[in-house]
Amino acid sequence: MSTTFGLSTVLGYPRIGGNRELKRAVEAYWAGTIDEDTLERTAATLRADVWQTLRNARLAAIPSNTFSYYDHVLDTAVAVGATPTRFTALGLSKLDTYFAMARGVDAEPALELTKWFGTNYHYLVPEIGPDTVFAADPAKALREHAEARALGLETRPVLVGPATFLLLAKGDDPFARLDDLVGVYAEILAALADAGVSWVQLDEPAYATDRGPDEIDALRRAYARLGALRARPKLFVATYFGEIGDALPALLDTPVEAIGLDLVAGPGNLDRLAAAGPLGGRTIVAGLVDGHNVWRTDLRAAVAAGAVVAGLADHVAVSTSCSLLHVPVDLSVETRLDPGLHERLAFARQKVDEVVLLGRALRDGTAHLPAPLPPPPAAWRHDEVRARLAALTAADRRRGDSTARAARQQELLGLPDLPTTTIGSFPQTAELRGARAALAAGTLDDEGYTALMRAEVRRVVRLQEDLGLDVLVHGEPERNDMVQYFAEQLSGFAATEHGWVQSYGSRCVRPPILHGDVARRAPMTVGWATFAQSLTTRPVKGMLTGPVTVLAWSFVRTDQPLAATADQVALALRDECRDLEAAGIRVIQVDEPALRETLPLRRAAQGAYLDWAVGAFRLATSGVADDTQIHTHLCYSEFGDVITAIDALDADVTSIEASRSKMEVLGDLAAAGYRRGVGPGVWDIHSPRVPSREEMAEALRHAVAAVPARRLWVNPDCGLKTRGYAEVEASLRHLVAAAAEVRAG
Ligand code: GLN
Ligand code: ZN
Repeated sequence: MSTTFGLSTVLGYPRIGGNRELKRAVEAYWAGTIDEDTLERTAATLRADVWQTLRNARLAAIPSNTFSYYDHVLDTAVAVGATPTRFTALGLSKLDTYFAMARGVDAEPALELTKWFGTNYHYLVPEIGPDTVFAADPAKALREHAEARALGLETRPVLVGPATFLLLAKGDDPFARLDDLVGVYAEILAALADAGVSWVQLDEPAYATDRGPDEIDALRRAYARLGALRARPKLFVATYFGEIGDALPALLDTPVEAIGLDLVAGPGNLDRLAAAGPLGGRTIVAGLVDGHNVWRTDLRAAVAAGAVVAGLADHVAVSTSCSLLHVPVDLSVETRLDPGLHERLAFARQKVDEVVLLGRALRDGTAHLPAPLPPPPAAWRHDEVRARLAALTAADRRRGDSTARAARQQELLGLPDLPTTTIGSFPQTAELRGARAALAAGTLDDEGYTALMRAEVRRVVRLQEDLGLDVLVHGEPERNDMVQYFAEQLSGFAATEHGWVQSYGSRCVRPPILHGDVARRAPMTVGWATFAQSLTTRPVKGMLTGPVTVLAWSFVRTDQPLAATADQVALALRDECRDLEAAGIRVIQVDEPALRETLPLRRAAQGAYLDWAVGAFRLATSGVADDTQIHTHLCYSEFGDVITAIDALDADVTSIEASRSKMEVLGDLAAAGYRRGVGPGVWDIHSPRVPSREEMAEALRHAVAAVPARRLWVNPDCGLKTRGYAEVEASLRHLVAAAAEVRAG
C-alpha cells in the first residue's frame, strides 16, 4: 500500500447523483414507498459511481465517507456518538434516528439547520453540552472504505475535524469538550488504522474564519495529540473557504502529514506558507481549482501558484479549493448552453480533470495543457450598461429625508397604525407547479399559462380583501424561484438543464449562471403587479429580488469585482422600480434575504462588502419619488454586526423574522438607531402550526412596547409559498384580528 499522498485529489464530490437519484430515493424512503435495503442499495450504487468516475479520471488520491444521506456534519455527530438523548429516547432504528435529527418527528423538532460558511449548503447544528457522552462509531467510514476496497480502490475517509465540529455546535460551551472529543477521534483513527486505512482527511474550515488565540492553541493541542498516537493513519488536515492565518503555524507545530490550503478563496495562504519556515516532510495540498464556482480554471496561473508551493514544500498535491459538493455534477449533459459559455465552464466532473492535469503539469511541465480560453464573446458586453454605471454619482444612491418621506407616504396611503401585510408569496399549489411543468413541456401555451396565473392572482387578491389586509400582494404564483424568475428575463444570465446542487438534505437548487453584463430587456413584473392593482382599491405591493440576493443565489462571473456586477443588477431593478411606480404601484418591496448570508467570513473584509451591498440596494431603490414606499425583507432576526447596515439600506419599511426570537430584534434595531418602519414577523411560517389571535396579539404588545405603533407593521416571518391554503387563511385571519385588537388598545 502506498503511503505517499498522490499528486492529485479532490476534497469531496457531489453525492446527489447525476440525476438527483439520492433525492428521489430518500424521499421515497420517507414516504414509505421503499424500504431501508432498497435505499441502501441505491446509495451504494451512487458511491460506487463516484469512486469509479474518480478512478477513471486518473485522480491519484480518492476520498470516501463523503457520501451522506442528509448532511456530513450530522454524519460526524453520529460518528462521535453525539446524538442528543431527545432522539435516542424515541427508540427508532439507527437510520430513522438519523432522519429524525435531520427532519424532526411529531414529538421532537429537528436539529437547527444553518448555512455552511459562505455557501448555499446548510448543515445540521450539533447539540453538545457538558452531559453529551461521546462514543466512537466509525461504522459508516469503515463501511465506505470497505466498499471501495471491494472495487479495488484504496480511499481516504473524510470526517469533519474535532475543532470545527465543536465550533459549529451549539449548547453550553461545546468547545470546552474538545479534549473529550479528541479522545473519541483517537478511537476512530485506531479503528480505521486497523482496517488498513493509510490516510484520513479531517476538515477544519472553521479556521478560515476569525479565531482567537485560545481556539488556535486548541487546534494545535488537538492535532499534537492525534499525531502522537501510535497506530493511526496519516493525517491530512484540510482547510478551506479562505485564509487560515495563525492556524497554519499551529498545524505546522504538529505531526500531521498533510495540510490543505485554499488558494482560490485564500490566496494569502501562499505568503503565509512562505513565511512559515521549514515544512518538514509534509505534503501541502494546494487547492487550486475552485470548488465553489463553475468557471474553468486558468491552468497556467494555477500551475504558477502550484510551482511556488512546490518550491516551499517537499511534496505537493493539487486539489480543489473545497469539496465539489457546491457545484453541479457534470457539464457534459448540458446540451443547450451557448457554446461560448459552455467552453468556459467546468462542473465537478470537469474539475476533477483539471486537478489531474495540474498535478501532471507540476511534475512534467505545461506542454500538455490545453490552449488558454479565447476572450469572452463580445455579445456578453453591454456598453450602454457600462456607460450608465460609469456615470453614476452619489446622488444616484440617495433619497430624500426618511422622516419626511414617511409622513408623505402616510398621507398618500392613509394606512391605519399597525398596517397588515404579507411577505409576498402565497401557497405554490400543485396546480401552479403543474401549470409551469406543462408550459415547459409544451402542453400548455403562454396564453393558457397566463390565464391560469391571472386566475390565481385574482383569487389571492380577493382572499386578502376578504381577510381585511391593508397592503396586498399578487402572491407570486408565476415565480418558480425568486432569483431564477429574474435571471430568466435579464440578459447576462444562463440557466442549466441539470445543474443541481444540494442545498440541504434532499433539497437541491439549480442556480443560474451570471456570465455577462446584466441588462433588463423589458419590464419583468409590471404586468402582474398592475393586474393585481386593477382588482382592488387597496395598495398592492410590487415584489422584486434585490441585487445581493440575485448574486448570492447564482454562480457569478469572476472577471470583475462583485460590486460592479451587483450594480448592474441594481440598475435593472432601478428601472423596474420606476416602471412599477409609473404604472401606479405605490409600495415596492425589494427582498434581500441573502444580505447577511454572503457576509465575508473574516471581519476585516465585512466593511467593504457591506459598502457595496448597501450601495447596490440603494441604487436599485432610490430612483423612485419619495412618495413611493420602499420595503425590504430579511429572512432572519440575528443581525449581529450587520444591524447598522439595515438602517443604511434606507428602506422605508423592513420586515424580518421575529416570532421565534420573541421580538428581541426590535430592541437591537432601536439600539442601532433604527427609526423607520419595521414589520417583525408574528407568525412562524416555517411550521404548519396555525398561531392563535391571542399569541400574535401578545407578540404585538411586546413590539408596541419597543416601537411606536405608527412605525410598526404586522406580517408573517416570511413568504407563504411552502404553506397550504387552509393554514394560511386561518393564520392570516388571526393575524388581522390580532392587529385590530392591539390597535384598539
Ligand atoms: N417575497 C418572497 C416570498 O414571499 C420572499 C422570500 C424570502 O424571503 N426568501 O416568497
Ligand atoms: Zn423571508
